[in-house]
Amino acid sequence: MNEQSKIFVTGHRGMVGSAIRRALESAGYMNILCASREELDLLDQAAVHAFLREQKPDYIFIAAAKVGGIQANNILRADFLYQNLQIECNLIQGAHLAGVQRLMFLGSSCIYPRLAAQPITEDSLLTGSLEPTNEPYAIAKIAGIKLCEAYNAQYGRQYVSVMPTNLYGPNDNYDLASSHVLPALIRKAHEAKLRGDSELVVWGTGTPRREFLYVDDLADACLHLMRCGYDGPLVNIGTGEDVSIRDLAETVMACVGYQGEIVFDTSKPDGTPRKLLDVSRLRELGWMATTSLQDGIRKAYASATFQQ
Ligand code: GDP
Repeated sequence: MNEQSKIFVTGHRGMVGSAIRRALESAGYMNILCASREELDLLDQAAVHAFLREQKPDYIFIAAAKVGGIQANNILRADFLYQNLQIECNLIQGAHLAGVQRLMFLGSSCIYPRLAAQPITEDSLLTGSLEPTNEPYAIAKIAGIKLCEAYNAQYGRQYVSVMPTNLYGPNDNYDLASSHVLPALIRKAHEAKLRGDSELVVWGTGTPRREFLYVDDLADACLHLMRCGYDGPLVNIGTGEDVSIRDLAETVMACVGYQGEIVFDTSKPDGTPRKLLDVSRLRELGWMATTSLQDGIRKAYASATFQQ
């Protein structure tokens, strides 16, 4: 990848795509291609194939996806399965037809079995049943990984899949019904502080454990892998550390400057008991996360805008 390479970032308005674009721009890449939803509907196969044939990018980052937290994943099951399959099929086959040799496909740690041994190694893929609340999303992302592997095996492409842990940062989704836990807790703590509430409601039991990566660190890892020419098997991207949801809530409250009681709403699901990625493969490739959870939460909070 050099400064003139034409690099197509899909999903550039979302949290991940916008972070990859920022990272590329600050690293001096000048030929970054983006297309808004109005310009290119990624669900439209003919449009995606035509766009790629015409533009012929040198590299593609697939950060476009239908994403959401535990509740959105659990309820919008058809949308999550159909849209994610469609987006990745259109982009991966379209990239191949347009002669794109290198592509990076971004998935998620929920592709691994619900009860995978912790920390989760890449080899645990397809060794057990998935977490039911996000099975449709996970099945679509597993299909995307297999698509990349199949194009590499059959056509000699270099399509790499990376599996980030739970992400947060600028341009996150702060809608309480569809967001992930970290942005939800930032918003809840912020609003509780403004209202002077004495309690903060946290879903589930507070015992599940999750790992959180600041999205600019993820973007840095993605660039690192593309730039070093990595074309091996799937790579986990995380920090290697996790926290309980209760501890996370306390950390968020401290960063936001809110002091209140945590109340658990156990009518909401806990989801997977623990999700911590093994990041040895990534470390062997020369990359480590640098943003601490506290610093990341403070930066995310400073950049957050809460719409109704
Ligand atoms: P997951 O990692 O796919 O399970 O998705 P989430 O990030 O949405 O949820 C992670 C954990 O945080 C689950 O155990 C949730 O029940 C818990 N949680 C606690 N409070 C909240 C909240 O306000 N919103 C969300 N989305 N999750 C919450």
